[in-house]
Amino acid sequence: MKLYNSLSKETEDFKPINPDIVTIYTCGPTVYMYQHIGNFRTFVASDLVQRVLKYNGYKVKSIMNITDVGHLTGDNLGDADTGSDRLEIAADREGKSARDIADFYTEYFLKDFDKLNLTKPERFTKATAYIKDMVALIQKLEQKGFTYRISDGIYFDTSKFAQYGKLSGVKLEDLGGAGARLEPNPEKRNPTDFALWKLSPSDKVRWQEWESPWGKGFPGWHIECSAMSMIELGETLDVHVGGEDHKMIHHPNEIAQSECATGKKFVNYWVHGAFLKVDGGRMGKSVGNAYIISDLEAKGFEPLALRFFYMHAHYRTKLNFTWEALQNTQNSLRRLFALIETYKEDPDAPLAIEHMRQFEDAINNDINMPTAVAVMWDLIKSDLSEGTKLNTLLKFDEVFGLKIADHIGYEIPKSVENLARTRWEYKKQGIWDKADMIRRQIEKAGFVVDDSSSDFKIRRAK
Ligand code: AMP
Ligand code: ZN
Repeated sequence: MKLYNSLSKETEDFKPINPDIVTIYTCGPTVYMYQHIGNFRTFVASDLVQRVLKYNGYKVKSIMNITDVGHLTGDNLGDADTGSDRLEIAADREGKSARDIADFYTEYFLKDFDKLNLTKPERFTKATAYIKDMVALIQKLEQKGFTYRISDGIYFDTSKFAQYGKLSGVKLEDLGGAGARLEPNPEKRNPTDFALWKLSPSDKVRWQEWESPWGKGFPGWHIECSAMSMIELGETLDVHVGGEDHKMIHHPNEIAQSECATGKKFVNYWVHGAFLKVDGGRMGKSVGNAYIISDLEAKGFEPLALRFFYMHAHYRTKLNFTWEALQNTQNSLRRLFALIETYKEDPDAPLAIEHMRQFEDAINNDINMPTAVAVMWDLIKSDLSEGTKLNTLLKFDEVFGLKIADHIGYEIPKSVENLARTRWEYKKQGIWDKADMIRRQIEKAGFVVDDSSSDFKIRRAK
């Protein structure tokens, strides 16, 4: 399998450190707000990497962090050490504690995560649960002479790491400021230096702050990912995924502090997902187009249509979201499901060898999903048997994650249909015990009935 590595800037043959299990870390959400459809594009990219690895027979150990402290607003302007902590602002805005804010948006995120049928990591690691590990990592850097103290915190001296900027492609001396859009903090030795530990302000009690060898404060955002990744996955990991914005500051900083602390390579393959645009422009809350999954649902879209929409562009290509494009994708997904519902199952039918080969070539060529989707339509249009099509589609769906299996099984036996009708009558008359008894009979036959207020639907149990 080939994967593009943002560090070498080449598409490389994928070789894991341990041949049996691939370690992967994904920079997860900052839980001060709902995650929008841009964020989820990156999480779907991470999901696809994992699914393709599994398709190729690897076991995957995956971690996604939940940033619940330390991600400052200055990050939007290219300096993650300035501005205010997003969690603290949200707490003040919503009149809740920072913990309540984090819990609320984490729970919401996890529901949306499921709606998109994303692969659950082995663990979602909350930054606030790893403060001790972050402090220990900073102490290690301090002992090795990579840190210095200024008035608002402990900083990493990037001039001591010769390879700084290898990932971003930006040389230290070329930078007018950390990201160049803000005046750098004049106390910093180099514009690219970044905070490892920030001290609490003297005039304000923060919602979240911890004692440390340097004084009361909170971790810098970058150190969180390094600490959690090393604790959970070891000092060198196979794959690290994040949005392309992190290529410039967050990830170079993760590399610098991790490699200086351990003396080892931090990550073998860096995978960056390209941004989602909306109506051809930047997404943002201020623009009013930072749509979330429930905005889509309110307009009658299924979350899986969004998942399918993402797969129509390569993960390293910018993708433009419009409601019209989503509508077209949902229509084609429904057409696909409607077709599958008419197919007759045949467990013994052979797989479509040629389509399998083309599909595998596509996914193993840096996760080329648009080609994989085209192969799927080609399979549908072919004159292969319905059983072959279904069996092949089920294999494809290990990567697509479109829950194709839910649409197989068009034949509902007459006997089951009759039982369901009788049950509905009992239900209408309030004879619950009989209705329940029949439901159990239906389930025994391998089917499930879903009730709405006016009707019922029968489907195959999974
Ligand atoms: P955050 O909650 O801001 O920490 O972002 C979570 C993830 O979403 C990060 O990996 C970002 O790089 C990514 N991300 C943010 N905006 C977009 C976007 N418009 N398109 C794709 N990914 C994004
Ligand atoms: Zn990160």
